[in-house]
Amino acid sequence: MANALSQPLTPWSADHRHQLDRDARSIFILLPRSAVALANVVGSFHPDSGIDLSEAFRDGRGVLAKGRLELDEGVEVSYELTLCDAASDNAFKLELTIFDPAVDGDAGELHRGVVTLDSPITISLFGDGWTIALIEEPITEDEYGQRQGSVCPVCTSDQIEGGRIEVDGGGAWQPIACNHCGSTWDDDFKLTGYSRLSISREDAAND
Ligand SMILES: [Zn+2]
Repeated sequence: MANALSQPLTPWSADHRHQLDRDARSIFILLPRSAVALANVVGSFHPDSGIDLSEAFRDGRGVLAKGRLELDEGVEVSYELTLCDAASDNAFKLELTIFDPAVDGDAGELHRGVVTLDSPITISLFGDGWTIALIEEPITEDEYGQRQGSVCPVCTSDQIEGGRIEVDGGGAWQPIACNHCGSTWDDDFKLTGYSRLSISREDAAND
């Protein structure tokens, strides 16, 4: 089964990613930030510049990301995102290939299409359609801590809301939800020591 349908939705910007919700059969592929940077750099090269990078990205050596996607309940595929030399318009692009994980090799290829970070694509597999968007990986835990958790790690919106803090042993956590993109996560807290100690005279006398 080859590629059935591939078309961009317009208008689109990364700020609109919350428009894609999973109920509408929308899938995100998270791209590591380093991959985004590499794709942007390579994508900016044009053969007219005299630099031919096509060889470097043949044979899967330009793989930026690969993994599994659950398209729908019970419908799982694997994907590979590679830099490709799109000969048609003299530019380097990202190529998304979707495989049936149960079938080995090229025979398992279900879809292949050129995608960009700027617009999602719609694919049709097994008679159903899904929208796939590439987005940058969420900010790291370290970055999140440095920003003192003031933003959503996925869309960086500050429209976030915290639930009840739960304490257990040496730690605590608070469920947080983003009202902008719908992501949810826990803020984690660690016991670091004590302060404002007041010694009870009774206890001291009993020693
Ligand atoms: Zn968000």
